[in-house]
Amino acid sequence: MPVLSAVVANLAAYAALLGSSDEPDNLARLLATALPQWHRDALCREHPEVSFFTELGASTAPAKALCRRCLVRDECLSYALADPHLEGIWGGTGPRERARLRRTQKAA
Ligand code: SF4
Repeated sequence: MPVLSAVVANLAAYAALLGSSDEPDNLARLLATALPQWHRDALCREHPEVSFFTELGASTAPAKALCRRCLVRDECLSYALADPHLEGIWGGTGPRERARLRRTQKAA
């Protein structure tokens, strides 16, 4: 799941910011800080069987099909467009599609 992967990737940075230990209340604070508000409505949370980080050459169609039905697709895409280092499918787009969208936004 893209959102969860982003959280895990950034968890060390948040932990350092909060001076965290691994106590449960600190972990809850970390997650509350790290998760975007729209994450609660993310359709991918309900479909762990769908991969949003596929091997090279594997189909991204199942993930993109799920994104098309997701209520927070716009928020997810905005989040991903703001971070050019994100891999995987976000907001129905892959990294190259997002790079193209960023160039289009800059040109406009
Ligand atoms: S748009 Fe796709 S990746 Fe983003 S939250 Fe929805 S299902 Fe997940």
